[in-house]
Amino acid sequence: METGLISGLVLAGGRGSRMGNVDKGLQPFRASTMVEHVLARLRPQVGPLAISANRNLDKYRALETMVLPDELTDFPGPLAGLEAGLRHCASPYLLTVPCDSPFLPPDLAARLFGALQKHDADVAYAATQEVGQPVQPHPVFCLVRADRLPTLSRYLADGGRRVEGWIRDQKAVEVLFDDADAFRNINTLDELRDLEQPAFPASLAQVASCINGYDPDALRVRDAQQIIRNFVKPVRAVEMVALRASLGRVLARDLVSPINVPAHDNSAMDGYALRGADLPQDGVASFKVVDIVYAGKPSAIVPGPGECVRIMTGGVMPAGCDSVLPQEFADSGDDVAMTVRAGAIRPGDNRRLAGEDLQIGSPALKAGRIIRPADLGLCASLGFAEIPVQRRLRVAFFSTGDELRSIGEPLGEGCVYDSNRYTIYGMLTRLGCEIIDMGVVRDSPQALEEALRTACENADAIITSGGVSVGAADYTKQVMAQLGDVTFWKVGMRPGRPLAFGRVASNGRSAFLFGLPGNPVAVMVSFYFFARSALLQMMGADAPLPLLQARSSEAIRKKPGRTEYQRGIVACAADGAPEVRLTGAQGSGILRSMSEANCMVVLHDEQGNVAAGEMVDILPFEGLF
Ligand code: AMP
Ligand code: MG
Repeated sequence: METGLISGLVLAGGRGSRMGNVDKGLQPFRASTMVEHVLARLRPQVGPLAISANRNLDKYRALETMVLPDELTDFPGPLAGLEAGLRHCASPYLLTVPCDSPFLPPDLAARLFGALQKHDADVAYAATQEVGQPVQPHPVFCLVRADRLPTLSRYLADGGRRVEGWIRDQKAVEVLFDDADAFRNINTLDELRDLEQPAFPASLAQVASCINGYDPDALRVRDAQQIIRNFVKPVRAVEMVALRASLGRVLARDLVSPINVPAHDNSAMDGYALRGADLPQDGVASFKVVDIVYAGKPSAIVPGPGECVRIMTGGVMPAGCDSVLPQEFADSGDDVAMTVRAGAIRPGDNRRLAGEDLQIGSPALKAGRIIRPADLGLCASLGFAEIPVQRRLRVAFFSTGDELRSIGEPLGEGCVYDSNRYTIYGMLTRLGCEIIDMGVVRDSPQALEEALRTACENADAIITSGGVSVGAADYTKQVMAQLGDVTFWKVGMRPGRPLAFGRVASNGRSAFLFGLPGNPVAVMVSFYFFARSALLQMMGADAPLPLLQARSSEAIRKKPGRTEYQRGIVACAADGAPEVRLTGAQGSGILRSMSEANCMVVLHDEQGNVAAGEMVDILPFEGLF
């Protein structure tokens, strides 16, 4: 291919609205700017180069490329840039790429050109397909015959605005590329920031050094939480699933409404649709009924003055009508005539407006949301059959301890059944993780290493219980340190003081590790206050812990200087206010206290004794458990 045949156009004229209106192309990225990375990748593939931009023109000109502002002024979409590009294009072909795709493939021009020639097409554009997923077109990575300009101008003059729409009218060929990541565009400053950082920028020690007065042997809960938050990285992998299967999953992208819901103004009641201006100021007015409208069966009739239409709930409002008189408010009425008294309704009443539920083009659901039943319905009302969700997080877990027996085994002297395996199973399942249950691992360095390696090679995160408290920790520490970057903390909290956290690696795979204490209540508390939010962060989910307040029915003893998590039962007191009492013995091994509770009472570091009647923070289990 002769590169001089093709001009290159970098589309940088958008508003960057998802980036807070910044100029996307000029965002700093890996030692230069995004647009410079794009130019560097495109330059060897084409002859003349230009940038379509509408702001900061001087900065773009400084890159020694032609800069083309849009000639259409009313809209900033990519087609406006393409039109300006085609007007100035001196070669027979023009290749467009967006300014936020710094990884574009090195053979983009060659492959699109090859396909265009082979099929004698006017337009060739890229597409990718991930295993088991539908083909994903990338129409802004597009090679166009320059003589197609008149068709584009006509399309734009007719009000067309979508790249896909224009391409549909062309003789177009879709070209499948293997590397979906090469077409990845960067839409938010967060994504940009993530890419800016190498996968694992800092050691745990570096991250921890940001904490004032960091002391691993006396760490405050909030500092431990912050270190974890700063160290953990989201797993970015999206899959499309059928609508029903998205329940409980994490939405991977914003869902934008493609339609107005409802699509038309319609009636909220069974009654008579009329013009508000015809309602009587005083006395009674009579209307002639000129048609009947059922839901789903609109009428073409336009009622004139003094006329109305019988209408059922959900029926499309006839042209000119803006109000509905519910049938029970009519003085008299049938399918022929109706009378209404002054003041029965106000003009505009009982009309649902088009788009009042969801407006076309507006975000219906935000990425990061965990999909609930109402969201399923919302997606259905928009006609979405498939939903982009984050792939499930894979979490491996095992219990450690020679004293542990599995259910079904005889319980020897001094042994206990492994209960953590089941609570952890339950908590992970409720979070929507894909779980790898590894059972009990003996207290031996070899067994622990073997288990950690297996977990690490198969999972995104590992949860262990037991073996991190003082006496046990020595070989655990060695083994974990040997496999990666793990710190042992003593956190100022009760229950659950010991906690190991970090990242381990084996055979090129790595996983975040949470070494929870062994005591059954401590496991759950540590899971909820440390592991849960980290796992959600890895899943890309946005779901903060819902701390509420309730009145304590009793006095609670509490030492300042550590956070205490007591198990409580919250209920509505006689005066209607939420009131919480503790559930009996609060020992960290007493799982019954947890089982009986419906909330955790959270007593913060600085808090001392609580008097009866004082307000305390609680974390309701409903929704967590
Ligand atoms: P460790 O942290 O290993 O010293 O364990 C602390 C306490 O928790 C000991 O009494 C253990 O027997 C108990 N424990 C540890 N793991 C489990 C488990 N998986 N199920 C029930 N109890 C456990
Ligand atoms: Mg143990």
